[in-house]
Amino acid sequence: MESLSISKTINFVEQKVTLHGFVHNIREMGGIIFLDLRDRSGIIQTIIDPKIIGEKNFEETKRLKRESVIEIEGEIKKRPEKNKNLKILTGEIELQAKKIKILNLSDDLPFEIRKDTRGVDEELRLKYRYLDLRSERMKNNLIKRHELILWLRNYLAKKGFIEIETPLLGKGTPEGSREFIVPSRLWPGKFYTLPQSPQQYKQLLMIAGLEKYFQFARCLRDEDGRADRQPEFTQLDIEMSFVNQEEIMSLTEEMMIEVVGKIFPEKKITQIPFPRINYEESLRLYQSDKPDLRPCSRASSLQGKKIKENGELSFVWVVNQPLFEYSETEKKLVSVHHPFTAPQEDDLNKLEKEPLKASAQMYDLVLNGEEIAGGSIRIHNPKLQQLIFKILGLKESEIKEKFGHLIEAFKFGAPPHGGIAFGFDRLVSILCNEETIREVITFPKTGDSRDPLAGSPSELPKTQIAEANIEIKKKKKGE
Ligand code: ASP
Repeated sequence: MESLSISKTINFVEQKVTLHGFVHNIREMGGIIFLDLRDRSGIIQTIIDPKIIGEKNFEETKRLKRESVIEIEGEIKKRPEKNKNLKILTGEIELQAKKIKILNLSDDLPFEIRKDTRGVDEELRLKYRYLDLRSERMKNNLIKRHELILWLRNYLAKKGFIEIETPLLGKGTPEGSREFIVPSRLWPGKFYTLPQSPQQYKQLLMIAGLEKYFQFARCLRDEDGRADRQPEFTQLDIEMSFVNQEEIMSLTEEMMIEVVGKIFPEKKITQIPFPRINYEESLRLYQSDKPDLRPCSRASSLQGKKIKENGELSFVWVVNQPLFEYSETEKKLVSVHHPFTAPQEDDLNKLEKEPLKASAQMYDLVLNGEEIAGGSIRIHNPKLQQLIFKILGLKESEIKEKFGHLIEAFKFGAPPHGGIAFGFDRLVSILCNEETIREVITFPKTGDSRDPLAGSPSELPKTQIAEANIEIKKKKKGE
């Protein structure tokens, strides 16, 4: 008999069914076993009576530990009135077992998964992530993430966007972080870099005439462990030709309003249309370029309290950022967004003499005090792009070596274009009321970039290292 999902059992009263799942709970009372069977869709109470399943099968079942995997054949019955539990979907029915087949046993679990696992040591949760993901909250986070992806995909497709994949092995795009590097086996001494974002490729797709692109893109940044950052994360990446800043912002805004209404109807957006604030003003008024405009946030911060989650979503656009800022560590000008961002038309004449006074055609979307998306109108003129690189201190030869391909592409009819990218994990975590992005990433790394489950990063066999044409420097003492 085909396996039925537990949530569907309510339609099978007085019928024979076969169910599969994990032993969520098992207890014996008065010579009867009560076993809660769980699958992804729910939990059903099962009554196991030795008179019905036979002594042998009963004895086998008695020895089962929680989280063992079983198959149950039986019949769905209405529960007697006094045993009804209206809090759960299957609370009015139960399964009368006829036969139990043990498919696989489980050892004692390293931690309790029947309740919220947030309090459990994170190293342990990540080492046994597959168990952590069995818990209700973690499963629901993954389901919500899936629903968001599906909905956003369809929304963008309906608006004429096409989903296009871009390479992981590339030459690197500066987004202000260190890049992961991949040694080439076939080209000794040469390396690929892993993308910090698909920025250059999505711009090349506009030059290719594809007009509207999106991708749920995996991005990789080799940063020192920073609170709630991951070396590998997902962006919803978008690019469009023949658009202005206003059009990108309104597409993004409509999309956010609709997706919240559909997937998180219990949430309330505090202000529509989303308010806008100038970058300078945000710094002045809130001492931050990521202001938290929730009404409750002001009250909480006045009382020195942590904000209590109450379903409020406060979006705000931060605009009119400067194009450059002075980096004290690098002792030079750096881009506030990235070097492909266009200056505001009126500020073009400031670029050479007073570059710090030029504003960018860029926009950041902030939600409850966290940046969830950022984008800009791009430069599509080769001369202007070269000038920006020069202002950033790149030599002519460096520009050619690093970005020659892009500047050349701008010479073959590059349409004006712009885009935006969402930090998708951050967005999901806020919508799911989670404090860290690790709660909505299936297999995240620890704060110091390790994976306790498989044990990466790890050493490799000497032969594999030699094949990659690299040598490992011995660490000197004290290093
Ligand atoms: N590539 C940018 C980023 O990763 C986003 C964009 O400008 O579209 O922040």
